[in-house]
Amino acid sequence: MRESKDQITLQVHCNACSKTVTAYPLLNRDDLVAALRRKLDVRVMHVTPGRDHIWSLDLEDKEALSNAIYQRFSIPT
Ligand SMILES: [Zn+2]
Repeated sequence: MRESKDQITLQVHCNACSKTVTAYPLLNRDDLVAALRRKLDVRVMHVTPGRDHIWSLDLEDKEALSNAIYQRFSIPT
C-alpha cells in the first residue's frame, strides 16, 4: 500500500551525482525509526532516469534524519 503523505524523503549529498539530491530511505517508517535508534546502517536511494544510486548514510546524515523524523512524527526522543 502506498501512503504518499507518509513518504519519507531527505535532502542529502549523493556521491554518484556530486550534488545534494532528494533521496528515499529503503526502509518503511517503523523500521527506519528502529534503525536510527539502534544506530544501524540506513540505506537510501536516489532515483535517477538511469540506474538508481543506493548508499548508506553517514553518521551526520543519520543524525539529521533522526531529528527530522522524530519531529515530523512526534516521536519522543
Ligand atoms: Zn545520485
